[in-house]
Formats: sequence, C-alpha cells, structure tokens
Amino acid sequence: MHMVNWNPWHGCHKISPGCQHCYMYRSDARYERDSTLVRKTSSFNLPLRRNRSGEWKIPTNSMVWTCFTSDFLLPDADDWRAEAWDMIRQRRDVHFLFITKRIDRFAKCIPTDWGDGWPHVHVCCTCENQQMADYRLPIFQEAPIAHKSIVTEPLLERIDLSKWLGSWVSGVIAGGESGPDARVCHYDWILDIRRQCIDAKVPFRFKQTGACFFKDGRLYHIERRFQHAQARKAAINYRP
Ligand code: SF4
Repeated sequence: MHMVNWNPWHGCHKISPGCQHCYMYRSDARYERDSTLVRKTSSFNLPLRRNRSGEWKIPTNSMVWTCFTSDFLLPDADDWRAEAWDMIRQRRDVHFLFITKRIDRFAKCIPTDWGDGWPHVHVCCTCENQQMADYRLPIFQEAPIAHKSIVTEPLLERIDLSKWLGSWVSGVIAGGESGPDARVCHYDWILDIRRQCIDAKVPFRFKQTGACFFKDGRLYHIERRFQHAQARKAAINYRP
C-alpha cells in the first residue's frame, strides 16, 4: 500500500507524560522553531491536489498518515478542521489514520454527517501509562469510530488494558521512547501487554524498542536505526 504523510497543521502543546520528549519538539529545536506556535502548513490541501495529468497527487488506496506533527484534535486547529474533514470526505478512495492524545475532544470535533464513523478513517488513541489508559480508553471505546487502535508508545510503565480489550479494538501497538533523554522501557511491560492482547484475541505489534531498553536484567542503549529492527527480531507480534 502506498504511504503518504499529510500534516495539515504543525505545532502542538504538551498535555500528558508521553509528550515530554515529543519528537516534533526535538525536530523543531534543531531549527530553533517554536513548536507551540500552531500554524496551517503549505500542504494543507494536499488530499485535493492533482498533478499535471489531472491525477490525484495522493493515489487511490493510499494510507495517509495524518497530522503527525501535531494532534488532529488540537483546540488551536478548531477553525481549520471542518475544511480538513471536507477533504477527507471527498477522498473516500484513500485511508486516513491519525493518532491522538485528545480523544476527550473527539465528540466536539466531528462533522455533522459523521454517523457511526466514516469507514476510511482510522483513529489511534495513545495511552502511555495507566492513568492515561484509565481516562482515555472508556471515552475511546464509546466513540463512534469505524477503526480504532490503541498506541502504548512511549510505554512508560506496566499498563493493565485488559478490561477494555475486545473486538472493538483493531490492534494494540507498543514501543519505547526514542531520543537522547529517552525514558526506559521494560521488555516485561511489552510482553505483559502482548499477553493481554492474546487473552482478548486482539492483534498486537511491538513497533520499536526505544533508545533505552531493559531486558533480562540488562539496560540496553539502542541506536535509532536499530530500534525498529530489534523489535521485529523479537518476533512477538500477534494476529488472532
Ligand atoms: S500530543 Fe503528540 S504532537 Fe502534541 S506535544 Fe504531545 S506528543 Fe507532541
């Protein structure tokens, strides 16, 4: 499947512990950009752009990773979101996916014709610790969304998701934190989430180790380029 990034706006505000070492803040810092200034980007209307032959720049059947340098449900973007939804509405031939830490804003951010959720929109809710899981997952479970995944990344502690896991969840993704100040991620925590997924017959993916990984009594510092590969090597993904 063709993958495309679409960042209609850039910038965000930290709201929970998982945001502490946000990769977007780190990347902006390299260019001395203020990440808290939220602005529309020059690719705002990318889903509707066509090339010289009149074809969509984003081909049919693409997976569009949406708003990865912000949060799609950010209050600062409330005035722009209707137009973004309109573009998403017009491109039912592609699949849109966004990850949010603001699922508690979902109900007030959806368009009037949303119904039970558009079939081409996938929403991922992040839960980096137990407190965020306890707060966000009941809201997520009730939200009218056709495809829902839970992201436990950066995983900051052991989390019990078991009471929410069920057929409404398309999958759980787990991983550590990257960057120079990364907090430690324990392999035991990852395995624990995997076990919960197996018990509930929910697909599980170990996406990346993060930079600071604790396994079998040893702390490993793992370079960015090996973090995904090491997770793949563990071969613990699960599909019912
Ligand atoms: S919500 Fe996401 S983009 Fe926004 S500060 Fe937190 S980690 Fe960064």
